[in-house]
Amino acid sequence: MAVIQITNPYLPDGYRWLKGNLHTHTTNSDGELSPAAIITEYEKRDYDFLAISDHDTYVDPHLYQPHTRMILLPGVEVSAGGPHVLQIGAEQRLEPIADRRQVIDEIVARGGFAVLNHPNWERHFNHFPQEQMQSLDAATGLEVYNGVIERLEGNALAADRWDRLLSINHWLWAFANDDAHLAGDIGKAWNVVQVTGQTSQAVLEGLRHGRFYASTGVKVCDVRTDGLQITVHTNDAQRIRFVSRWGIIRASTDGTQGSYRLPDDTSLARELGYIRAECYGAGGQVAWTQPLKIDVM
Ligand SMILES: [Zn+2]
Ligand SMILES: [Zn+2]
Repeated sequence: MAVIQITNPYLPDGYRWLKGNLHTHTTNSDGELSPAAIITEYEKRDYDFLAISDHDTYVDPHLYQPHTRMILLPGVEVSAGGPHVLQIGAEQRLEPIADRRQVIDEIVARGGFAVLNHPNWERHFNHFPQEQMQSLDAATGLEVYNGVIERLEGNALAADRWDRLLSINHWLWAFANDDAHLAGDIGKAWNVVQVTGQTSQAVLEGLRHGRFYASTGVKVCDVRTDGLQITVHTNDAQRIRFVSRWGIIRASTDGTQGSYRLPDDTSLARELGYIRAECYGAGGQVAWTQPLKIDVM
């Protein structure tokens, strides 16, 4: 008899949540603030971790780590020669060659991971062509939200692109980042990761394995499964939508928590592919949970 299996990337207990932004610029590329100033700004807002990711420039976090309580992660935004790729966790600048496949392989070989940035940026809303994203098997995630695009051409949101990729089993985690260039860009979006220890390695491992959610304000408390039921608890959502393969909304509930129960029928369950939650709060704030993979074995 076929069995429905739900793969939940989140830890059930024994963790704490840490909040951070992985995409910000400084005076080392085209940002307004110095690294020290931007670190102070994020620290003031109670962030737990931060990556400075200047365009094709490596800003060594070890230089600044002694002066902050936040965890500083190594980052670069590989920018010249093609769509922008966020390099996290690899401690050096890489040559921004046009072949993004090779760039991402290099990031992974050096112990880091790659995020595909602001897919819907620019007048043609197509900074990162879909076919190109599909070909980048070694990427870890994409930005479903990028704050700076709010004041630039295109769309800051890219959950549409994400569903298209997930639906063909191209598995990527959702990230939300400020991409701060000016002081006014700070604090629009972040990632909140489950960790069992407060170290850079714990944060990187949590991000790599999808134990985090992306947010522009709403706070998620936990994402649990019980049999065929998926339940999301938040502090402050007003509506929670459960989305499956091809972007189909399977349930929508009002309130701070919501549940979706998978159908017992295995052929109906197989069609789901995955379930992810979008949690909407006041003032247009959203939190995106990672997808829970649905398999029928
Ligand atoms: Zn960029
Ligand atoms: Zn950027």
